[in-house]
Amino acid sequence: MDAMGVQSFEQIKQSTPISEDPNVQQYVLCVADKIIPQVKQNPDPKQWEVVVFEDDQANAFALPGNKIGVYTGLLKYAKNQDQLAAVMGHEVAHVIAKHGNERVSSQMATQAGMSIATFMLGGTQDENSALILAGLGLGVQYGIILPFSRSHESEADLIGLDLMAKAGFDPAESVTLWQNMSKAGTSPPEFMSTHPSGETRIKQLRERIPNANIEYQDAVKQGRRANCKL
Ligand SMILES: [Zn+2]
Repeated sequence: MDAMGVQSFEQIKQSTPISEDPNVQQYVLCVADKIIPQVKQNPDPKQWEVVVFEDDQANAFALPGNKIGVYTGLLKYAKNQDQLAAVMGHEVAHVIAKHGNERVSSQMATQAGMSIATFMLGGTQDENSALILAGLGLGVQYGIILPFSRSHESEADLIGLDLMAKAGFDPAESVTLWQNMSKAGTSPPEFMSTHPSGETRIKQLRERIPNANIEYQDAVKQGRRANCKL
């Protein structure tokens, strides 16, 4: 999975322009540098690659192999550091919980109608990589919509909430973010595409915010309130 993530990330970097705005880069990196240390499996920001892509879609993604991509269009909806952290936490959570793994394998097997091993040998390289990307949650970009399941989305929301709170971001802002997204209602990003509904998601988050607030207040007390500005 790591190898697929790394390879996919390289492909995206080749096909999508990278933002040349140093302020935006710095802002997104600042948020990433706070969240990554909360990822137990790999807490060293130096081992992660974080890239801002110049693209209007309101989206972000994380890939196995310690890769994070953020599209500049997301910043229209994620209006402050806490809201951006909510999205990045959610995306990293999909990787932590290994949500892509079963999708990549089932997608490859289903589409090809044969064993994964055989499939790896068949199809053009482009077809194979498009399916892998879809499994990793990047299908929308490649015309294959393969959303995460509702249960994966819920799980990513909750793990993400925990990550952002521990990182010193205000968890209540996650709700505001989803509200911004719901209101916009256009070109739904990965994390809006399948969810039961914005309301269900918001309700679930609200229930968990008191707990997340305890983590957040702890982080603040320890001087870890984030201060990332655009
Ligand atoms: Zn998601």
